[in-house]
Amino acid sequence: MATRMSTGSTLGSLLGKTLAGRWVAGAGINDAILRAESLNSMGMGVILNYLGEEFTKQGDVEETVLTYMRLINKIARERVVAGISLKPTQLGLRIGRRLAERNYNKIVRAARGKNVFVWLDMEAYDAVDATISMYARQVARRGVGIALQASLKRSQDDAKRIVGMKGVVRLVKGAYQEPRKIGVGGSKEVTHSYLRIMNYLFRNSDEFTIATHDGPLIREAMSLNRSYRRNVTYAMLNGIRNRYAQRLAATNNSVAIYVPFGARWLDYASRRLREQGHAALVLRSMLGG
Ligand SMILES: Cc1cc2nc3c(=O)[nH]c(=O)nc-3n(C[C@H](O)[C@H](O)[C@H](O)COP(=O)(O)OP(=O)(O)OC[C@H]3O[C@@H](n4cnc5c(N)ncnc54)[C@H](O)[C@@H]3O)c2cc1C
Repeated sequence: MATRMSTGSTLGSLLGKTLAGRWVAGAGINDAILRAESLNSMGMGVILNYLGEEFTKQGDVEETVLTYMRLINKIARERVVAGISLKPTQLGLRIGRRLAERNYNKIVRAARGKNVFVWLDMEAYDAVDATISMYARQVARRGVGIALQASLKRSQDDAKRIVGMKGVVRLVKGAYQEPRKIGVGGSKEVTHSYLRIMNYLFRNSDEFTIATHDGPLIREAMSLNRSYRRNVTYAMLNGIRNRYAQRLAATNNSVAIYVPFGARWLDYASRRLREQGHAALVLRSMLGG
């Protein structure tokens, strides 16, 4: 029994590392910068995220803030076309809202000084209010954006609020399983909600990001943009449909690839594996889709 378990976990760990190698740039800042330079050379921008979430230890939070500060300097020094994306729970949200906001403000200040765009990832439902509040207090001075999840009922209203404050939305389907009361439903409903919010953005916002690998949604966005002529970026995750992303970039579209890096790849790889169509999707991404 013990042997079977250890063989299973070795296999699991091997699979995890193979997948992580495809989705994650590597453990350190230099790996992230190298991946960014390579994507830049193919005409694509980059959004860098240092892996880690749900921190409850002050030390993990401090190390993360320090890494982002170093990353910002390196992006500027190497003249890489890259922004960064922060998770509120890696900035200390589970320890306290004030701590997370202090860290967010500190990173945003440093990034503004170097012209590096700062995104806020959207995490589980219980982090949404705090995430939008900290964003709202920085939005007026520009250089910041926020993810909204089509999977949540509230996101229709949140999109109006963010656009009302001239914020920049990155629209995603949503990576978290939320209870029925707050979620829009299954994948069909999520896609419908995505379309509704996307249409709202085209009608009312000058600049936003369509973050999905969903071909029909991307084609619909491109068709809308022929009428609205907005500043739209199409964003995908590192290692998923990146040839498609490259084709979009080659036909004069603004494209960004979200590239995670860092040693904490396991949670990230597990989330990608849990997503809809897991097996097929994972195989396709391994085969270079
Ligand atoms: C740039 C970016 C940032 C994100 N930020 C956040 C965030 O802050 N918060 C959050 O909750 N979530 C975030 N996500 C994750 C997001 O919420 C989804 O979980 C993830 O993007 C999968 O949804 P999808 O839109 O690609 O649609 P899906 O329904 O998963 O996939 C749509 C279709 O894309 C195609 N496809 C997908 N993968 C492949 C592949 N490998 N090869 C070929 N075709 C494929 C298939 O046709 C599939 O049916 C982000 C995603 C991106 C791209």
